[in-house]
Amino acid sequence: MAKIALFPGTFDPPSLGHLDIIKKGGKLADRLIVAIATKPEKAKGALFNLNEKLEMLKAATQGFSNVEVTSFQGLAVDFAKEKKVSFFLRGLRAFSDFEAELQMALANRRLSGIETVFLLADEKYTHISSSLIREILYFNGPVKDFVPEAILPFLTKVKKPAQG
Ligand code: ADP
Repeated sequence: MAKIALFPGTFDPPSLGHLDIIKKGGKLADRLIVAIATKPEKAKGALFNLNEKLEMLKAATQGFSNVEVTSFQGLAVDFAKEKKVSFFLRGLRAFSDFEAELQMALANRRLSGIETVFLLADEKYTHISSSLIREILYFNGPVKDFVPEAILPFLTKVKKPAQG
């Protein structure tokens, strides 16, 4: 049976760290589904809408033949069961990621029996986070060292969130 991996995340916006996890994770599975979680409470503070994130992720992963990009609503475990996923894929940066990731992986395993595989991105990407990129974009700073080249054109029309 084909091994299907699911990489769920917010990807607001996708970063070179995400792309590295996708590259590495794609080698561990026959198919890798990268799925944007659409949570209403997250959408409030989001810089990019779902459509923009889908377009950006598709552009960034264009050359990867076994990677598909989609979105889901609700629990990742329900989506994973529907897609007959073999394992979740997540990335770890620093120790600070560990606690939340552990909690989520344990909850997902309890709810579905599906394991989570954690990968480390290359050291040169460990300082990169979507929140850092959003902050730089907010002040019109350069983000080319932090995001896949393919998504740069999507970032030029960033609308600043309301001041406050
Ligand atoms: P979420 O809001 O679900 O954490 P993110 O889009 O912020 O979604 O991150 C998705 C996954 O990618 C998480 O597992 C996160 O730890 C991982 N990740 C994000 N940036 C990096 C990076 N620079 N190196 C390795 N993993 C990363």
